[in-house]
Amino acid sequence: MEIFINGAGVAGLALNKLIQKNSATHRAMIFEKNSQLSTNGFGFVLMPNGYSALKKIVGADIVRENLHPLKYYMNYNFEGKLQSKNTLTNCYGIYRNQLLNMLMEKEASIKWNSSLEISEQHEVTCNGQAINADLVIGADGINSPTRRKLFPNHQAKNDRCHELVGFAKLPKFIAAQYDHQLTKFTHQQGGLSFGLMSLGDQNFIWYMQWDQQKYGEPADQFASFFDDLTKDFRILDQFRLHLKFDHVHHCINKTITPLEQYHAEHILLMGDAAHPLPTFSSQGMNTALEDAVLVHELIHAVPKAKIGQRFYEIQGIKIKKILSESATLRSNFLYPAERMLMPLAHKKASYV
Ligand SMILES: Cc1cc2nc3c(=O)[nH]c(=O)nc-3n(C[C@H](O)[C@H](O)[C@H](O)COP(=O)(O)OP(=O)(O)OC[C@H]3O[C@@H](n4cnc5c(N)ncnc54)[C@H](O)[C@@H]3O)c2cc1C
Repeated sequence: MEIFINGAGVAGLALNKLIQKNSATHRAMIFEKNSQLSTNGFGFVLMPNGYSALKKIVGADIVRENLHPLKYYMNYNFEGKLQSKNTLTNCYGIYRNQLLNMLMEKEASIKWNSSLEISEQHEVTCNGQAINADLVIGADGINSPTRRKLFPNHQAKNDRCHELVGFAKLPKFIAAQYDHQLTKFTHQQGGLSFGLMSLGDQNFIWYMQWDQQKYGEPADQFASFFDDLTKDFRILDQFRLHLKFDHVHHCINKTITPLEQYHAEHILLMGDAAHPLPTFSSQGMNTALEDAVLVHELIHAVPKAKIGQRFYEIQGIKIKKILSESATLRSNFLYPAERMLMPLAHKKASYV
């Protein structure tokens, strides 16, 4: 089969790698609109399902060498009082760059500065030239142009949950206290939290989540916005000087009305293009890896006309479950009740 993939993100690169490595009879080519891999996102929490998928894609040895184990999830309130501590199993911190480089296959299988265009009639072209592929994959992210053409009524909308994400290099004595942990400080009245994910060697990714309806938006001064929202919380003083604000991302959670199928004819959506997931789930990258493994298996296991339908039958159910669990986490964040905020890892990834 000839497989053309739009987008060299997590899902597109992972599928391309699997096909290049394992398929004598199938060929893949990626079209990426940018001239290089995108570093948006800094880093990820690899959950048990993503870990298991990544091992299948790049091999267990490479995965072991590159990951920083996360052993505990610690949740404090803004007075510094520990609310909950949970043991994590098969959870790791990984830089986005590191992950994308692991997923990179031959340069020759990627056309940079290129896009596949899909017409209303689902004809596929690149630079005006017709593309004849057996399978076209839209792995073009949260604002997927492929989804826009296939399912125009399912476009991404901004949610009121916003996030700033950046790097921090913590001094040794502070880093030691938060190493191998996912740490979160949450405001008892809801709508504000600060978190750290350790990546080893005193390096961390920090984030602040807030309710935009309650706290508004940063103009362009991220550092002063951060200070305004958190200045009363002395527990965060130990981090302030070490948070880097030069390459901060302002991310807005996006939602779509969930799709009832992920394909139309021979065009199939994967990753965020098929199912954008809220930040509370920590599952966007993890399910993108899972999607790639599943689509690769289906390419070999079922006739090409059935791939899209089987993909949705299997993955669509898991995604619905993740969405429903994320809705609970979001509601606990905005309107905290008795239940503490916990990432889905603590449920032992029951959707795996
Ligand atoms: C700050 C931040 C932190 C995150 N943290 C986590 C986390 O801890 N855990 C987790 O699981 N997920 C996390 N995510 C979500 C995760 O990044 C995404 O869910 C994941 O990258 C989805 O992979 P994807 O391949 O579907 O899309 P992407 O990785 O976004 O890749 C899409 C690719 O398509 C390309 N593209 C777009 N349009 C076109 C076009 N017209 N033509 C050609 N190419 C195109 C883009 O340039 C990009 O390279 C985070 C996201 C952000 C922004």
